Formats: sequence, structure tokens, C-alpha cells
Amino acid sequence: MAKDYYQILGVSKNATDEEIKKAYRKLALKYHPDRAPEDKKKEYEEKFKEISEAYKVLSDKQKRSQYDQYGTTFGEGPFTGDFSERDFSSFYDVFGGKDIFENLGFDRIFEDIFGFRTRAKPKEQYGEDIYMDIEIDLKDAFYGIEKEISINKFVVCPECKGKGGKGIKKCDQCNGTGYIQERRRSLFGIFIRERICPKCNGKGKIPEEICKRCKGEGRIKEIKKLRVNIPRGIENGQVIRLDKQGNAGIQGAPSGDLFITIHIKPHKIFKRKGGDLYYNLFIRYSQAVLGDKVKIPGIDKDLILKIPAGIQSGEVIVLKNKGMPYLYGRGRGDLKVFVNVVIPKKLSRSQKKIVEEMKREGL
Ligand SMILES: [Zn+2]
Ligand SMILES: [Zn+2]
Repeated sequence: MAKDYYQILGVSKNATDEEIKKAYRKLALKYHPDRAPEDKKKEYEEKFKEISEAYKVLSDKQKRSQYDQYGTTFGEGPFTGDFSERDFSSFYDVFGGKDIFENLGFDRIFEDIFGFRTRAKPKEQYGEDIYMDIEIDLKDAFYGIEKEISINKFVVCPECKGKGGKGIKKCDQCNGTGYIQERRRSLFGIFIRERICPKCNGKGKIPEEICKRCKGEGRIKEIKKLRVNIPRGIENGQVIRLDKQGNAGIQGAPSGDLFITIHIKPHKIFKRKGGDLYYNLFIRYSQAVLGDKVKIPGIDKDLILKIPAGIQSGEVIVLKNKGMPYLYGRGRGDLKVFVNVVIPKKLSRSQKKIVEEMKREGL
């Protein structure tokens, strides 16, 4: 079960030595176990091993020609077993030995080889988004409505105006640089990593006197009243987003947003589907046979419905533009009236006589 070393390095079968070396450099740096995120350690190690194995073979003229011919190499067995220093031998060869790692962090190596530098940027601690729900009636959705809500949220501290305190001084933990260095030992020496200073959050500055009201956070919890405009035509489950109405950020960082999910209570007589409303109409046999004019409720006002003579139970009469308004659009959906002909269960004596008469007449 030979592996495709060319594919592993992402080069073609007739790649030059230089191309192979370049591909290896790139991948070896990318998948170096020391760069692996905490949850991908194993994955990176495996990948690094694979890359090293491929490079070991393809960078050696004799081994490469053996591999090309037989699909395998002789002599040295495959890289198996524990992850060891052996896996790094190619790495040292290409990157100039172990010494290069002494007192250098990976970012610097990146800089040396590729001419750019990576450094984590301090993130502003944005306020969190807030999610809430509002229940309205179908009529409110028809006309649109303004609702007042109360939310318990972080607001900018009025005492320090979000600064977290008074005055400004150099952060003593990072000495004003915003970064702190961490040394750690690895297989090939000491690594120095930089991370954002947790005390000043990368700013390099802290207030001279911490605000007592917010304890330096620059925000406090408060119950806020807010007016929310719910537009006409809104549908069940739709979400209104209010920019920057979520929690205030830490030390003056931008606020999060407020997301309000609209729930529309089921209506007593109307069912809604998009812009259309559905209504169940119950009529008598004689109305169906002879036709009629009846008053039915609309969502905004009563309507006169003309029942054509000879209508069948189950037929639908469509009243154009008598449904719900379209959100942010023009016009309205339709009102769809389902016709149900009701057969009476009980009849008076005279009614029964008439129906019997109808029977004789073939009705
Ligand atoms: Zn404060
Ligand atoms: Zn600091």
C-alpha cells in the first residue's frame, strides 16, 4: 500500500528538486506540531510525519528513482511508531539545523523565510448580542405596531464613560507593549511565543484609577426601555435586528446587536400563508344552489361576498388584495374563502316536507 509522495507534497511527478524542497518547506511549516491548535495536535503530527516521509524519499536521488520505478523504497522502513526526533531530521536539513530555533519564535522564522510577520492583533471585546422574542397578534402584523420592551443589558458606565477609570498609565504587566512573551521548551529548543497582554487587552495602557462603579469594565448592567417598530406584513418567525442595541462592549468597545424574533399568535378565524389569508365559510344548501350575498369578516373590515349560484362544497372564492400586506412591499395578498355547504342534522316537520318534495323533483 504505497503512498503517493508526490500528491502528499502537492507536486507533479516530474517536479525539480527545488520545487520539491519548496513544497516541503511550505507544508512543514504549516503542519509543524508546534503550530498545531490544541485540538489538532494528533492530526498535525500525522500530517507532518507524512510530509517528512515524502520529502525524505523524493529529495534523495536514489530513493526517488526507486520509488518511481517500484512504488516503494528499499532499506529504510516506513516511518512508523512513535513520533520522534527522527521525523524532524529533514526539517533541520532544510531550515538550517537546530540552532535556528534557539531563542526564536515561529513567527520570526516565518518572517525570515517568507518575508512577512504574523502577530496576533488585540481584539476589541465587543459587547454580546442579545436575543429575545415578542408575541403579537395577526392584526398587529397587518397594521404594524410599535412595542415598548424592557431589557436587562450592559450599558456604557456613566461614571467613567466606558473608559474603565480615570487617567492613563503604562500597563505594568506588559510594560506598555501590549504583548507578553511566553517561553516554552520543545523538542528543538526554547520557543518564545507572544500573546496579547490579558491585563490591558493589548492596549499597553491601563487607567490610573480603576472606576469603582464598573470595576474597570467600562459597562454596567441596567434595565433599559426600548421602542421597537414592528413593520406591517411581518411574518411569524421573522427576526428584527437592532444595530448596537445589544450589550455594551468592554472598556468602550462597540456594542453587540439586539435580535428580536417575532411570534404571531394563531388567529381565531384566519390562517395565514405568506401574504394570503384563508377563511372557512359555512353556507346552507339553498345558498349554494341559488347563490347569495353574505357579509364575512376581513382582517381590517367586513366584506361582502357574492356566492355564485351552483357553488360546490370545497370550492374556493378568491378575494383579490384582501389578504395581508407584503413586508416592505406594495400591495396585499388575497383572502381565500373555502366554501363548506352544511347539511342540517335536524329538520322541522315543514322543512322535512320541503326536502321530500325536492327529492320527488330529482334534487
Ligand atoms: Zn466605570
Ligand atoms: Zn498590558
